[in-house]
Amino acid sequence: MALAGLNHKLGWRGTTNTLLNFGEGKYPVNGEAGAVGYLVGKPHEGLRCMFHMMNEARIGVGTAATMLGMAGYYASLDYAKNRPQGRPVGVGGKDAAQPQIRIIEHADVKRMLLAQKAYCEGALALELYCARLVDEHHTADAQAADDARLLLEVLTPIAKSWPSEWCLEANSLAIQVHGGYGYTRDFPVEQYWRDNRLNMIHEGTHGIQAMDLLGRKVLMEEGRGLQLLATRIHATIEKAIQAPELASYANALGKALQHVGNATQAAWATGKPGEALANAVPYMQGFGHTVLAWIWLDVALAALKVDASKSIAATAGKLGATRYFYHYELPKINAWLNVVETHDLTCANLPEEAF
Ligand SMILES: Cc1cc2nc3c(=O)[nH]c(=O)nc-3n(C[C@H](O)[C@H](O)[C@H](O)COP(=O)(O)OP(=O)(O)OC[C@H]3O[C@@H](n4cnc5c(N)ncnc54)[C@H](O)[C@@H]3O)c2cc1C
Repeated sequence: MALAGLNHKLGWRGTTNTLLNFGEGKYPVNGEAGAVGYLVGKPHEGLRCMFHMMNEARIGVGTAATMLGMAGYYASLDYAKNRPQGRPVGVGGKDAAQPQIRIIEHADVKRMLLAQKAYCEGALALELYCARLVDEHHTADAQAADDARLLLEVLTPIAKSWPSEWCLEANSLAIQVHGGYGYTRDFPVEQYWRDNRLNMIHEGTHGIQAMDLLGRKVLMEEGRGLQLLATRIHATIEKAIQAPELASYANALGKALQHVGNATQAAWATGKPGEALANAVPYMQGFGHTVLAWIWLDVALAALKVDASKSIAATAGKLGATRYFYHYELPKINAWLNVVETHDLTCANLPEEAF
């Protein structure tokens, strides 16, 4: 085995990555080109063992993506509270005689902060839910342990991919909130984005997670995992429908879940994997946003339980992020799931020469 060199990476510069060449003859083994491999465990069980490790590792990747998103959120929140720029806009436009305001007072900056909060706190709640399922899988009674196993099968691609995509987007927004400074090394947010960019790539790329979800996880055991997830989502809907401030979101979540179910069936209606999986990533995006809408509804219910009078700022924050998710994010699923349902082959069928 030869050390060919170091990889010079976009992020994660505190760890060393090396390129190893096996069997090229630079360091002969018993006088010949080659490398010595050692069998660990029983023959033909390596991939199964690797996936045993990989499933929990994927929840770890999602959690890492979440924490980088959180770090960017807190950094940009702090910056927005301290940076004076612009003046309030009144009926007659801007009044130059007024003192400058801090950028957190601008609606568009609040939008970028609330998006980060919705992505990152939602992702954290999802990861904690999955971590609890891992515990239940090991410690609960037989039925609950099996349910936890099956739910984890379906949720693991989401736990890995969703924070990798949306907490990365949060990091991009954290840069935007910093304006020009966000693009410099004077502030930490550019590093968070660079470090987070890895998470859509390693431990199975986004495309591979999507194929795992649509090609395997929603089909396995006659769709029992998807049904179990739907049962849990319906339980939250039934509770939320009783709360006047959440009833419309409960209805929207019910429709989203129905849309995911229809898209799953439509994707496989012709039984051709090539067609079904051509839009696996948009499917995963629609599925992921629906799961996160469920998570946010559950968080909102818990927040109202703690503080029914909504007098604590943290409750207003949780309800605000839930509102943001349902008004600005959940409607996106229609575009993603429609291309799945209609077997849109715009990308798949474009000939190579046309690129
Ligand atoms: C910083 C860093 C650290 C790493 N650390 C480790 C480590 O410790 N151990 C380790 O084993 N690996 C490690 N990796 C490797 C990492 O897991 C792989 O880079 C990753 O799994 C993607 O594989 P690939 O690079 O071969 O990309 P490819 O497989 O070539 O993928 C390239 C693109 O093609 C798409 N694609 C590939 N196949 C298909 C398909 N069948 N259908 C549709 N689309 C497809 C992918 O989604 C991707 O977008 C590391 C990588 C990096 C960057």
